[in-house]
Amino acid sequence: MSRRPAADLEVGLKRLHLPTIRRIASEMFARAEKENWTYRELLEQLVAEEVAHRCETRIARAVRKARFPFLKTIEQFDFTFQTSVKLKTLGRFLGPELVEEGRGAVLLGRPGRGKTHLAIAIAYRAIQNGYEARFETAAALLGRLHKAQAAGQLDEVLAEYVDPEVLVIDELGYLTYGPDAANFLFPLVDQRYLKRRPILITSNKDPSDWGRVLHDPDLADAIVDRLLERGEVIRLSGKSYRQPAAESVEHELSAT
Ligand code: ADP
Ligand code: MG
Repeated sequence: MSRRPAADLEVGLKRLHLPTIRRIASEMFARAEKENWTYRELLEQLVAEEVAHRCETRIARAVRKARFPFLKTIEQFDFTFQTSVKLKTLGRFLGPELVEEGRGAVLLGRPGRGKTHLAIAIAYRAIQNGYEARFETAAALLGRLHKAQAAGQLDEVLAEYVDPEVLVIDELGYLTYGPDAANFLFPLVDQRYLKRRPILITSNKDPSDWGRVLHDPDLADAIVDRLLERGEVIRLSGKSYRQPAAESVEHELSAT
């Protein structure tokens, strides 16, 4: 191959959409000369930086799209405080199997036990693994679906919650929903079930009580069946993390 005449590197990198290489190239050339890198090492470094930066940008974008109320990771979860769940048990939700095998989870427990934290942490891992996620509270979700139906836009809004590989529905059972709650939740759960896409649900109520929460025991059963066919119930007991000190005082007081 004959050598081409020199082209403008800046212009070429811009045209190829390689902004990171464009930004760091001169610095890397200087380092490569100083540290005697081979041509191959230099190229590898440049490509690795571009790939790493793209990956970070994608993750940041996916996190914004997911609309988490706060971002917490699995590394930030203190398993010595919350001993009712083991990192090992959660392992199967933290790898690509979550999406590949459509494993869902129902995280149960009283307030402050870390249900929302864990659901977000699992969804965030999925994002790191290359997938998209969406977070919504049950109240907001059912409210939106109800409004969408009235406006004749149910399918579009439903798609927003069916399309992402991972869906978190937070706080099912905290509020009393409208009488049509099950009618909206069922098609969403069913569509995701048919596409084998996992749902992570947090709740303070046992799935056996969801019939009352959703005003329809039969549909609630159908929802729970689909969620648990490939999913699992994770029970978080123990103390609340929100005010560990205050709770332990409470315990001491009630013990005396
Ligand atoms: P829940 O959804 O069960 O009511 P959250 O997940 O919102 O509880 O947890 C309440 C707060 O306590 C959050 O800021 C969360 O990050 C934190 N938290 C709960 N459990 C733990 C834990 N085991 N380790 C670290 N932080 C925790
Ligand atoms: Mg919560």
